[in-house]
Amino acid sequence: MDLEKLKEVLKDESKYRLKEARDFVFVKFIDNWNQATSFSKDLRDKLNKECPLEIKADVLTSRNGDSIKAKIILKDNVEIETVLMKHKDGRNTVCVSCQVGCPMGCLFCATGTMGFIRNLTVDEILEQVVFFNRHLKKTTLSEQSESNGLNRVSNVTFMGMGEPFLNYDNVLKAIKVLNDANAFNISIRNISVSTCGVIEGIEKLANSGLQVNLAISLHAPNNKLREQLMPINKRYPLDKVLKAVDDYILKTKRKVMFEYVLIKDINDTDECAKELVELMHKKLYFLNLITFNTVKGSQFQASSNNRIETFKKILKKEKINFVQRYRFGDDIQAACGQFVTGK
Ligand code: SAH
Ligand code: SF4
Repeated sequence: MDLEKLKEVLKDESKYRLKEARDFVFVKFIDNWNQATSFSKDLRDKLNKECPLEIKADVLTSRNGDSIKAKIILKDNVEIETVLMKHKDGRNTVCVSCQVGCPMGCLFCATGTMGFIRNLTVDEILEQVVFFNRHLKKTTLSEQSESNGLNRVSNVTFMGMGEPFLNYDNVLKAIKVLNDANAFNISIRNISVSTCGVIEGIEKLANSGLQVNLAISLHAPNNKLREQLMPINKRYPLDKVLKAVDDYILKTKRKVMFEYVLIKDINDTDECAKELVELMHKKLYFLNLITFNTVKGSQFQASSNNRIETFKKILKKEKINFVQRYRFGDDIQAACGQFVTGK
């Protein structure tokens, strides 16, 4: 899909045409301008030529059908991955990428092994949500799901490839369109951004007034271990990240989610759990335990169920607010940290 020339193609049309055209793409989810029936045949042909709507993608569906991964091929032939997760309660969450690859190089993450290729444009971020909205529109055609909004993407998480705060402006612009009642109309409280701890980004978000959910990839309860797993901790050490989070909470009064991937014999010990308790004992801090998802060639393994239970017991005893994240799509390499392209 390429909307770059949309404005230019429509410059001689009435001023409502642009709004109408965006409505066709971002609300009605047409996949060919021929479906824009209120446009003249000439205009439709021109748009199909200059602003094609086709999204090139390879699609994989998980065994139980609850998650679908799309590898989208962009116009410079680089690829990104995005996943739709269908929850039992009717929510449809899309996990979007914001960069091709990622420069942060976290050792446990498949995207991290790719290095950084480039930032995504606003349209390329939106295209991922458009893709799944088209898919949902085609697969759930009943009138009832239409009226319940069940055939729409209801939640978006910036937890795919890349670090959102290294592409801050485009991510924020995309969020505004996702939230726009005249576009995707996704509630701002259903949009989440996850960062490995880019402090400037946390500060900017706090001042933006935007009520999105903030998640922090923590993964270790002290600098020494975090530095080994996440090289970026040298630049943004734990205490400074947490200070930025506390300022964010002070300003926004919003809760913050901390993500902690349990890796066998690395960060899943009783000592780590106890250290984590010390960090998490704060109002509006919320912990999300994630099972480690296998990454090809990785030196790490997932913690055993027994170990996870013991770890959780320590947290429970100390009354830490936490949940264990349900694992979507690990059989199609579509779970957290498994996004990788070009290999
Ligand atoms: N760059 C951002 C957002 C993308 S990563 C960030 O790091 O927060 C989305 C989440 O998946 C992060 O919490 C990340 O740490 C986690 N993750 C990375 N590799 C993983 C793996 N192998 N198993 C489980 N989660 C992983
Ligand atoms: Fe980048 Fe996030 Fe993966 Fe780290 S965990 S390499 S920041 S995508």
